[in-house]
Amino acid sequence: MPAEAQALSIIEYPHPVLRHKCKPIRRVDGDLRAVVREMFALMYEAKGIGLAASQVGLPFRLFVSNLSGEADKGEELVFINPVVSLPKGNEEAEEGCLSLPGLYAPIRRPARVHISAYSLDGQEIAADLEGLAARCVQHETDHLDGVLFIDRLAEAAALEIREKLYDLEDRFEARVGRGEMPSKEQSDRRVAEFEEKYC
Ligand code: ZN
Repeated sequence: MPAEAQALSIIEYPHPVLRHKCKPIRRVDGDLRAVVREMFALMYEAKGIGLAASQVGLPFRLFVSNLSGEADKGEELVFINPVVSLPKGNEEAEEGCLSLPGLYAPIRRPARVHISAYSLDGQEIAADLEGLAARCVQHETDHLDGVLFIDRLAEAAALEIREKLYDLEDRFEARVGRGEMPSKEQSDRRVAEFEEKYC
């Protein structure tokens, strides 16, 4: 079975694909639209407000978001090739991540940013964001560069969550053992296929 025919799932820390530097998307087709629908479904199921392609093992620059976290509320947005710029101010707030289940920590980020990107229909997106929206697009764009929110923790907070990271590493090993997470080889194959097709 080709890797792309396998269902997507949310990849958890410390799977190496979460560190992949995603490449720009050069084309959109029906299969990519299906991937986006699946990403929204996975995000809602896991009660998240954003999900980046690398979190489902895909190697391109795309993330989905709905700040309401609910399928029948809020606004579903797809960001292709997002660029975050013009950071202003800074603000600390608690963050979590679907790839680090159960882990929450205070993260300091610019309070306001500008984002530019393309929608699934090729329309340009340009917006000045603040609050949760600004935090969400920064967190998700970080994922596309292989950066996780734990990389941005202050030193004291990083020490505090160390035990929880060990627990996540144990959980991950167990899930790989049960075949619930793709192996590095399966993941590398999918990355190569999708890069060839879309990047
Ligand atoms: Zn995340």
